[in-house]
Amino acid sequence: MPPLVAIVGRPNVGKSTLFNRLIGQRTAIVEDQPGVTRDRRYAEGDWNGRVFRLVDTGGLAPGEGAGIAALVHQQARQAIDEADLVLFVIDAQDGLTPTDREVADMLRRSGRPLLAVANKVDRTEHESLANEMYRLGVEVVHGVSAAHGRGIGDLLDAMIALLPPPEAPATTAGEAPLRLAFVGKPNVGKSSLVNRLLGAERVLVHDQPGTTRDPIDTPFEYRGQQFVLVDTAGIRRRQKIDAPVERVAVILAERALARADICAVVIDAAAGPTEQDARLAGLVEAAGRAAVIVLNKSDLLRGQGDERQVRGALADQLPFMSWAASLTTSARTGQGVTGILDAALKARANHSRRVATGALNRLFEGIVERHPPPGVRGTANRLYYITQVEVRPPTFVVSASHPEGIPDSYHRYLIKEIREAFDFTGAPIRVRFHRRPRKRKARPGASSDE
Ligand code: GDP
Ligand code: GDP
Repeated sequence: MPPLVAIVGRPNVGKSTLFNRLIGQRTAIVEDQPGVTRDRRYAEGDWNGRVFRLVDTGGLAPGEGAGIAALVHQQARQAIDEADLVLFVIDAQDGLTPTDREVADMLRRSGRPLLAVANKVDRTEHESLANEMYRLGVEVVHGVSAAHGRGIGDLLDAMIALLPPPEAPATTAGEAPLRLAFVGKPNVGKSSLVNRLLGAERVLVHDQPGTTRDPIDTPFEYRGQQFVLVDTAGIRRRQKIDAPVERVAVILAERALARADICAVVIDAAAGPTEQDARLAGLVEAAGRAAVIVLNKSDLLRGQGDERQVRGALADQLPFMSWAASLTTSARTGQGVTGILDAALKARANHSRRVATGALNRLFEGIVERHPPPGVRGTANRLYYITQVEVRPPTFVVSASHPEGIPDSYHRYLIKEIREAFDFTGAPIRVRFHRRPRKRKARPGASSDE
């Protein structure tokens, strides 16, 4: 099944207009299941060859006596449970409401990939209105006009980038090739690294008979493993994109991300990591891709002192990437360059790793016993069980008596403990909380909970 994208937001922000815009000319399937969900519109769309399913939960009826806030909360909960990606839409001309803030918090805490969309940015003058959405603490706000089609292409690029990577077809040798993308600001040395890598002694670049132009992707082999260097032409040649420089780097990164399993995030070690590096790495993290951090231009560092300083700055600027290995390279001397491939192989293995449920729960019991979550309204918040539900990235679901009452700090504690117990270097991991399904008497003909 293609990945599912859910549109969430208050009534009248333009969800159904956006839905129609994102699926183009297709018709939606309206699902009407009385008592479960009402009026959910589904459709399949595609963009640059990636197929996705879109659901507009806008028609969900609020529970009896409940207002708009309850309605939007309900949409969001459903999206968190089902969707691979949530588009959270506000009306830029109306601005943020308290409900928008609450729902954004809830979506962020869920760990579900999230895109912030400010709609009704019909004209350039409206763009500053969209910026208000940054107050929700999101990385990137997409200002669009669903009614006029403005910003829709960029939004689709970003959506595709955040979807789970497509299943790569397995080769005859068995394992699928590892799809590696280089991501980074201009001038950090991406194209120099790629040229070094493809020219390295132990890297075997496969011939591409019949192609005279630069191939978009370059297949090669290293230590008997198949790799594909994604978007090689885009890395080697400067692309002409009509957008401000800092947007161009983001757009290129999103395109590369959409097609890769693993990103080498390249940073100029001599200049040190910057906010723009953090923004690009943030996209990789949000997309759930495996990553290796490459501190390039190490030949310009003077000794261990400088290197320590760069690593310190890295921990300060990109704290959310602490799970990725960081290596120093020099495209000029060749130092460390094939190390990127070794780190990528390790990251790939961790990204697709499944931990057995038994081992996981034995560990989990201890973690919770040592440090239980705070109570909610005077009752204990009980955590019952943990399962790994997905790989790429490894995703865990914890069943809890009060999933909404888990603080961010506890969420981080669980992630840290899981990381310490199992080596997930190079892979982001996600932990989500679900309410434990209540035991119900089985009704004839009804399917039971889980
Ligand atoms: P929903 O309730 O969130 O699904 O919102 P709708 O898609 O039904 O749109 C609500 C209203 O906003 C309608 O009158 C739309 O025509 C209008 N609308 C939707 N998108 C835009 C937009 O980009 N710009 C402007 N100015 N109006 C829009
Ligand atoms: P890109 O824009 O990220 O693809 O960066 P380039 O590969 O075009 O490199 C930008 C500049 O940095 C060029 O002048 C390169 O020669 C230089 N450069 C790239 N890698 C290194 C390195 O490892 N050491 C040094 N000293 N310079 C480098």
